[in-house]
Amino acid sequence: MSDKVMEGGCACGNVRYRVAGDPIFVNNCHCTLCQQQTGSTSVVNMFYETDRLTHLSGETSRHVVKAGRGGDHAIIRCAECGTALWSHYSRLGEHGVGIRVGTLDAPASVRPDAVIFAADRMPWVALPDDIPVFETTYDASELLPPERFARLKALAAKARPA
Ligand SMILES: [Zn+2]
Ligand SMILES: [Zn+2]
Repeated sequence: MSDKVMEGGCACGNVRYRVAGDPIFVNNCHCTLCQQQTGSTSVVNMFYETDRLTHLSGETSRHVVKAGRGGDHAIIRCAECGTALWSHYSRLGEHGVGIRVGTLDAPASVRPDAVIFAADRMPWVALPDDIPVFETTYDASELLPPERFARLKALAAKARPA
């Protein structure tokens, strides 16, 4: 694990967080659910083991919606200003967390591994030349470096009911 540490927070400054190391994977998702939940063209989420995320300050609220693959998607927001900060998806369980890259203090420091659900994008959105683009999803075993794929496998194993 690298020594990298990144910090971020909500729009009003109530919630602050810190996350340690490199993400397992980073997706720029253009699916219609992400469009609806953000009110925007897409979202950029970076995924970590939840124990690498430190909630430094501020009360949060939890909002459960349906995930695209079925199951629940819990969105954690600042209880004061409502900024969506991170999410737990049933696929990875509470051991995994998807942090919204736009809430980082330095969001430009994180680059997506993949653009996903490009088929659903708003038709005027331009896609990057230098990031892999997928019509829907991708095979993580092919896209991710082995060390990061191993972290993903370990998380998925924890999420499966014993
Ligand atoms: Zn806030
Ligand atoms: Zn999506």
